[in-house]
Amino acid sequence: MPMPPYPLHCYRKGCGQLAIYKIAARWSDGVTSELKTYALSCEACLPEWFRLSRQKQAACRLTTAETLEPPGIYRMERGQRDKKLERLSEREAELPAIEVST
Ligand SMILES: [Zn+2]
Repeated sequence: MPMPPYPLHCYRKGCGQLAIYKIAARWSDGVTSELKTYALSCEACLPEWFRLSRQKQAACRLTTAETLEPPGIYRMERGQRDKKLERLSEREAELPAIEVST
């Protein structure tokens, strides 16, 4: 899905800042794949959303055919399709490591 052409805001209630990051994970059922969006975030809320998204991903139940990668941080670009979003691996590395038990 292309991003809508209007500004999007941080998912955190009461934040009100424009979202500049998208936290999303690559999901696949072995046939199709898509980016599953966990949150849109401003700069300030990013560490919290990233942590929550990783927790949600770890708790997600999958069928044997499904795969769901740990959520990553993408730069939001209006009008840009998900597949072309730039992944910000450096921002992910800066954030505190998350202990995930499976
Ligand atoms: Zn925010």
